[in-house]
Amino acid sequence: MQAFRPAGVELASLDRNADPCADFYQFACGGWVAKNPLPADRRTFGRFTEVQDRNFAVLRRILETSSADRDREKASAYYAACVDERTIDARGLGPLEPVLARIAALTSRDRIPDLVAHLHTSVGEPPQVGGATRRGGAYVLFNFGSRPRFDNASMLMANVGADGLSLPSRDYYVMSDERSVKLRDDFRAHVAQMFRLSGEPAAQAATHAAAVLAIETTLATAMLDVAERRDPNAIRHPTPLVELQRLTPAFAWERYFAAIRAPRVDAVNVAEPKAVQAMNGIVATTSLDDLKAYFRWHAIHGSARMLPAAFRGADFDFFSRTLAGQQAEQPRWRECVTDVDQELGEALGKAFVAEAFGPRAKADMLKMVQDIKAAMRADIDASPWMSDDTKKAAKIKLDAVVDRIGYPDRWRDYSSVRVSRDDALGNRQRTTEFANARRIGQIGKPADKNDWNMTPPTVNAYYSAPNNNINFPAGILQPPFYDPDRDAAVNYGGVGAVIGHELTHGFDDQGRKYDGAGNLRDWWTAADGKAFEDRAQCVADQYSSYLVSGDTHINGRLTLGENTADNGGLRLALMAYLDSHVASDASRTPPDDLVDGFTPEQRVFLGWAQVWCENSRPEAERLKAATNPHSSNRYRVNGPLSNMPEFQNAFSCKAGAPMVRQNACRVW
Ligand SMILES: [Zn+2]
Repeated sequence: MQAFRPAGVELASLDRNADPCADFYQFACGGWVAKNPLPADRRTFGRFTEVQDRNFAVLRRILETSSADRDREKASAYYAACVDERTIDARGLGPLEPVLARIAALTSRDRIPDLVAHLHTSVGEPPQVGGATRRGGAYVLFNFGSRPRFDNASMLMANVGADGLSLPSRDYYVMSDERSVKLRDDFRAHVAQMFRLSGEPAAQAATHAAAVLAIETTLATAMLDVAERRDPNAIRHPTPLVELQRLTPAFAWERYFAAIRAPRVDAVNVAEPKAVQAMNGIVATTSLDDLKAYFRWHAIHGSARMLPAAFRGADFDFFSRTLAGQQAEQPRWRECVTDVDQELGEALGKAFVAEAFGPRAKADMLKMVQDIKAAMRADIDASPWMSDDTKKAAKIKLDAVVDRIGYPDRWRDYSSVRVSRDDALGNRQRTTEFANARRIGQIGKPADKNDWNMTPPTVNAYYSAPNNNINFPAGILQPPFYDPDRDAAVNYGGVGAVIGHELTHGFDDQGRKYDGAGNLRDWWTAADGKAFEDRAQCVADQYSSYLVSGDTHINGRLTLGENTADNGGLRLALMAYLDSHVASDASRTPPDDLVDGFTPEQRVFLGWAQVWCENSRPEAERLKAATNPHSSNRYRVNGPLSNMPEFQNAFSCKAGAPMVRQNACRVW
């Protein structure tokens, strides 16, 4: 009998006709891409989606099976109301009427703060992409909540953020190219249609839609763009209340804070002062009729997925089909699993963890995290461009990084949330109120070290600079990222590089501005800071040269942190794997260490690349390039590898090959 050998590289996913030195993504993923055409109801379909689909099947079974657990029953009831489209259709706009009536009752500018607080508190915002836990209500004009203090991250403070748009980012409102202009026309037509569906005559609906676009354009024009917002110093403006009130005389903050039940504070962080000034101008000068149209639009838009079929269909047509290229709606159950994950994520996540997460994954992860931290320490020590002082400070930060694996130590208590089996929109409003009250209640209190920004079934991971922790939800700890029974080289290339990626975030262009305690504080010597920025600029220029959908450049500044983390993370995973699993060069006896014909190094690189195999629509790629800090998947493979001599040696690539960059970039 043949000895058992754990599976490793996915041979059927390869394209053996492709030259690994010309386009490694094609070599590693070509087979997978050809075999997995994009389903009509997806914007993208890749390895992440495969894992998410597996997780969703587990979640669906959990939600459709009754249980004695109270939280799980609550999640099931929420889900049952969400999939009950017949009841949703039969109730029409009824469940939204109380909110619409409050908007209609606005007759004086003095009462705007009360109405804004009500909308912020209880109207659901549209679903977030990617398993992020929800922020709070429908953010008309601005958003309000808590955030860590910049000078003392262990305490939370009040924060007013720039917000109030419907399109994905400010650029969609200000770009003057043909596609952007057309998209705004389509958006205005969509808003008008939603107003018509809610009972407005066509001419009035069109006028109101134009007013909505005008208000949002005024807000957008005053905002930072997505890349500028990444700089924590650009959004650091602790402001005494009296000063905020002076800046925005038309908006009575005391009134707003009282209505939203915020604790008394002397100061708030005003992330983008120009945006709140624009908001002030809107409150002072826009006609009440137009303002009410804007509020009504957000109430309807934020609730659209829980409204009757005509609203859901129109919402899909613009926000999914036009903006992201999705051709068909997803089955309702999938949307509802997404919604429960977002609204009651830890009630559902608790059941998911019990079914799908074992102790072995946690033990393996802890071991890999230790290996990769050790690699980072060695990498810092060996860095040719950092002084000893900065190295010392960097290692202090590294040693302070906390790792969290799987799920929170304490589960969120949802006992105060009332959920009904026949009130989809009401459930959504109550979970919104719950999330919002929780967030506002934290103002002025110590940060809750137990908090997670992602739910357990999420197929993702993150680094938090204010908490200086790396977090790996249970959802990602499975193939192709990780498999306890397969070749370790492939695990290091997969989840190992994800660990390295999150760790490197602590030292990317954003993370490096925070110290080990999570405070925004410069611990770099001036010369080392300059050396870092020069190296980072190389990475920014490299990725800015990449094109997606044939016509759109990646934004090298928006994606700089993620690209730095990809480059550093993969190198750390390779270092850690070789240190822990492969004997030194002298005692290596190739070809004994070949598996499926690949060397250990080659298998680490293939493990990384095969995580990113994906098909996606051109619209989705453009949307990602405009708003998402991650680069297109092809470049998450080819970008880092073409910078790495280790890769070029492993595949014997010659100078001048496309996968050998002449001007190779390296930060970490
Ligand atoms: Zn990242």
